[in-house]
Amino acid sequence: MKWWQESINTLKGIGPKRVEAFARLNIQTIGDLLNFYPRLDSYIDNSKILTIKELATDGSLQLFKATTLRAVERYSAGGKRYAMVTVRDETGYATLFLFGAQTYVARQLKPDLEILIRGRVKPGRSTKTVSEVMFQILDAKHGDTLQGIQPVYNLTESLTQTVLRQSVRRALELAVKLGSPETIPEPLVKKYGFLNRLACLQNIHFPESMALLAAAKRRLIYEELFLLQCGLLLNREHNHDDRAGIKHGPDGKLVAALLRGFPFKLTAAQAKAWREISDDMEGRQPMHRLLQGDVGSGKTALAALALAKTVENGFQGCLMAPTSILAHQHLETLQAFFKDTGVQLALLTSATKAAEREQLLNDLAAGSLQILIGTHALLQEDVQFAHLALVVTDEQHRFGVNQRAALVNKSGYAPDTLVMTATPIPRTLALTVYGDVDLSIMKGMPPGRKQVRTLCYTGEMRDKVYAGLVRQVRAGRQAYVVCPSIEEVEGSDLASVNDVFIHLKRTWLKDIPCALLHGKLKNSEKEAIMTAFAAGDLKVLVTTTVIEVGVNVPNATLMIVENADRFGLAQIHQLRGRVGRGEQQSFCVLVTDNQAPEALARLNVLHSCSDGFELSEKDLELRGAGQLFGLRQHGLPDLYVADILRDTDVLVACRKDAQKVLADPQLRAQVLTAVENQFDERFANIFKN
Ligand code: ADP
Ligand code: MG
Repeated sequence: MKWWQESINTLKGIGPKRVEAFARLNIQTIGDLLNFYPRLDSYIDNSKILTIKELATDGSLQLFKATTLRAVERYSAGGKRYAMVTVRDETGYATLFLFGAQTYVARQLKPDLEILIRGRVKPGRSTKTVSEVMFQILDAKHGDTLQGIQPVYNLTESLTQTVLRQSVRRALELAVKLGSPETIPEPLVKKYGFLNRLACLQNIHFPESMALLAAAKRRLIYEELFLLQCGLLLNREHNHDDRAGIKHGPDGKLVAALLRGFPFKLTAAQAKAWREISDDMEGRQPMHRLLQGDVGSGKTALAALALAKTVENGFQGCLMAPTSILAHQHLETLQAFFKDTGVQLALLTSATKAAEREQLLNDLAAGSLQILIGTHALLQEDVQFAHLALVVTDEQHRFGVNQRAALVNKSGYAPDTLVMTATPIPRTLALTVYGDVDLSIMKGMPPGRKQVRTLCYTGEMRDKVYAGLVRQVRAGRQAYVVCPSIEEVEGSDLASVNDVFIHLKRTWLKDIPCALLHGKLKNSEKEAIMTAFAAGDLKVLVTTTVIEVGVNVPNATLMIVENADRFGLAQIHQLRGRVGRGEQQSFCVLVTDNQAPEALARLNVLHSCSDGFELSEKDLELRGAGQLFGLRQHGLPDLYVADILRDTDVLVACRKDAQKVLADPQLRAQVLTAVENQFDERFANIFKN
């Protein structure tokens, strides 16, 4: 076993209690500890220590040294405990406010201790006040010195900064003694002038200078993206397709019949996208096309045309959706489009009955079933096509890298693939996540669509909002009430969808048929509820983002989004695509208890903007890429340091470097060993396959 694979309990000062606390941070080995980077925006640079007099009361985060005078605990009007600690230095006094769990931490602050404080400084009644406090006791027992630049870690309650710093210091001593092998091939380390691995670890934890800290960050950003790219390339190698592609003929009778039968004319954007898809399908190379179009832009019609094209060429096609509700809806839509054409369609979900499933699989293997629509159930091994030539996936961002490969491999030749998504993904990210895809982007909407009117209210207006809901229902309409998902709510004091439902059922919805729909329900339960809602038997659905994709109920004209500030703009935009599908003017009402002007301003963007692409750009500006493009959703590792959108240039360079490295057997072996030995499952997962 390598030294970094040893348990952290071999480090001095770490006993069973602390092992447990570290485990909560996912730190088990010494290597894990060294790979646990401090908060990259929060180093304490001790050259910037101020006196109390020098502190600016502009609400910025500042650093100062002071002596404790006294600490008291109080309760706020809302019954929450907090601590008030008075400190002083030779220039004046300040008061620290510590809330929640910090209150207990503050109990360490006995009088007459010298402490280093970082916090947000504002004017107070008699002294300067400091909130968001982080402090460090400066005595021999606590062991920390004021020298150099100190790291600040994201911790759980049971570990202190001091314990973490000491443990990391000890781990680094081991690294110095025993050596830390490179994780990036030497030629690349040289080429870019990176710090070596050891110096990088030393400087990310205890920077010798701000310049070396920057150098360490630069290397870590590269390292993450390089490993990501290596993993993706290996993944593609593994799933490599040397099977021949299928050459479809020019658009024929069935495509023409569909175009004639559509109750609408294709928009210019749809027509253009269809040309691109159709051309791809006629080529010898397998199609890899990503079709991006806002909610309601009419992507399903294009899927139908592509399926028709493959069928008229004597092949089979399939359409995979992330939820069974959506798969059902696709079946209905496609059945209508293919009416009177004699084309055989079927639906396969995990709820499909055994007998029906067996029949369906027989027909599929015999080739008499031409179009199969379904969920993940399509991926099962015994689902075998006679001649699958087209794979369409809807709302692709819900599927992982490997799931996609599984479906495409169900055929003796490489099928054409079409991926449909309403999430606008920047080109470089698409490249990273999907490999070399071609992009079709549909801007704009089919004509005659009424815009959903979007209004934003704070919590005090709730009564008015729900009175409006009752009015809509009395007028024969239906409505959604959307709450943040159950998982998202756990541990916070937000009302969960259950509570909202119970409350509404007792009050506003007492006499109105309504139901609670969330992701934890069984599929059959979800379907029963959706069916009843679509039939108009239920008037109101209280729900989570499970309804985000697909569902089409034209009579639903109102959507209330509770705790709207918890959602991304683009996400709310997708949600509100569920209303405004009929003749009636529809409304989306956002309710938030967050009174902060920024929160309201952000939500108000939705009032004036109805372009999903523009909204996700705003989201990007406001919330950053990490939040928006959760890599984990794609089956990819989280990145701690790199940011795909910010570090696009590095990403592109890494892709090239990774290609070269993997082509060289020796370097390739080095990288594989490094990933296996020196990183947690984060990277191992995409390397594994
Ligand atoms: P999405 O892109 O969100 O999947 P859909 O394919 O569900 O959108 O289309 C939304 C609605 O727009 C459907 O009711 C569909 O019949 C309708 N639609 C699609 N194309 C057109 C068009 N060219 N003109 C008018 N309505 C259209
Ligand atoms: Mg759709």
